[in-house]
Amino acid sequence: MTATHHTPDLFALSDIRGPVLRPGDEGYAEEVAGFNLAALHTPDVVVAASGADDVVAALRWASATGTPVAVQATGHGANFPIEHGLLISTAGMTDVRVDPERRTATVAAGAKWRDVLAASAPHGLAPLNGTSTDAGAVGYTVGGGLPVLGRTYGYAADLVRSFEVVTPDGLPREADPAHEPELFWALRGGKGNVGVVTSMVTELLPLRTVFGGGLHSPGENAEALLKAWAEWTRTVPEEMCSAFGILRLPPIPQLPEPLRGGFWARVAITWTGDPDEGEQLLAPIRAAAPVAVDLVEEMPYTAMDRIYMEPQDPLPARESCLLLRELTADAIRAFLDEVGPDVPDCPLLVAQIRHMGGALARPARAEDAICARDAHHLLETVAVLPSPPVAAAVERATASLHTAMAPYGTGRTMVNIHGTPGDAADRARAWTPEVYDRLRRAKRTYDPHNLLRFGHTV
Ligand SMILES: Cc1cc2nc3c(=O)[nH]c(=O)nc-3n(C[C@H](O)[C@H](O)[C@H](O)COP(=O)(O)OP(=O)(O)OC[C@H]3O[C@@H](n4cnc5c(N)ncnc54)[C@H](O)[C@@H]3O)c2cc1C
Repeated sequence: MTATHHTPDLFALSDIRGPVLRPGDEGYAEEVAGFNLAALHTPDVVVAASGADDVVAALRWASATGTPVAVQATGHGANFPIEHGLLISTAGMTDVRVDPERRTATVAAGAKWRDVLAASAPHGLAPLNGTSTDAGAVGYTVGGGLPVLGRTYGYAADLVRSFEVVTPDGLPREADPAHEPELFWALRGGKGNVGVVTSMVTELLPLRTVFGGGLHSPGENAEALLKAWAEWTRTVPEEMCSAFGILRLPPIPQLPEPLRGGFWARVAITWTGDPDEGEQLLAPIRAAAPVAVDLVEEMPYTAMDRIYMEPQDPLPARESCLLLRELTADAIRAFLDEVGPDVPDCPLLVAQIRHMGGALARPARAEDAICARDAHHLLETVAVLPSPPVAAAVERATASLHTAMAPYGTGRTMVNIHGTPGDAADRARAWTPEVYDRLRRAKRTYDPHNLLRFGHTV
């Protein structure tokens, strides 16, 4: 990528080492593109930050000129367009340093979970990543971070010891329980509302392998499998993390042959205990419906992407979520009526219910802004939007599912999985009213001119 420094009207950005690009510049389109192709970003200027100093210089310039600012690492959360303003791209800041003695990783803003896994695994250590290791570690963590192993170990944000963060005034700050505690609080669940994180120090867990994968039954068996799974989630220990999903998979070569193009009911599990014990625990699930494709196995932690088989290549996607108080028989009926086998033209690729509770229900060591602890389950959907008519059908199906499931929900979402941020009332659904008000106060303190105004803001 070629740097185009010293454009006259970007004079004050000339301190920046990384490329500073404007529409039409070589490399601009690649730098603004994210994983989620549903949103096309068209900022007036993009700074491809080479390190924390570039973030400082970019924010000083934005603060001096009153320019609104967005930040992007991978674009996994690119579900809204960034138009005009400044985009700070941290994609090039991928450094990860592991301290095996302290069991911590210092993770730069643009590192993917995959980078953290690769650096941690040689020491027998692992982070609390989500269902795709292609997502950015920092962007995921500031949204609370709902890990695959959440029931066992809690939220990723609660393993963070400290953040290096630059507030919109261009001041680099250290946020931890002792320094800037309110900033530290807001950065664990409040998403990118108060500053641009340049790196974080997070604890790692001693974990080399997991026992996990998906049990796939033909979609016609969704009811039997979901009922059995819902019952089973009431009984399993915290070391058992799982989700039930209805998958309508496209016929794409990235998916393994038996699953490709199929309609499936899936229970995906991740178990950190003894594999034999995990296998025994699975017996009621295996007995509930015939399993056509069994991908459950002991695997290195670094192979975790096999469990949820999330897409690894960019695509235009629409996601949504709703936290559920409980998964009653009525809730199961409502879910199946919307997305089950009797709805053959359902346009949702994945309609999934994750089991919460366990460590996800316990208070954080240091108070945070996560508001999902009262949920027993989390409903999430993913759809691919290849054309406007499909997009319209996806909107209708998503809205209908949410209306049907609302009586069983807490009324809230998780900010990371919320999907397209709507109006202020919609965005506020990611937090309780108390936490939302406190986040707004923190925003007034650290971002008084509302420079960080794109996306899921308070
Ligand atoms: C396939 C897939 C699977 C997923 N699975 C999970 C899951 O299991 N659990 C879960 O919790 N989430 C999950 N997510 C959601 C994911 O955590 C969010 O999309 C998250 O925003 C990804 O971070 P990113 O930096 O990669 O995204 P980006 O699109 O680059 O950034 C998204 C937002 O994160 C914030 N952000 C990013 N970098 C910074 C920074 N340096 N400082 C401050 N704010 C920043 C900003 O608000 C930004 O707009 C998944 C997403 C996908 C697409």
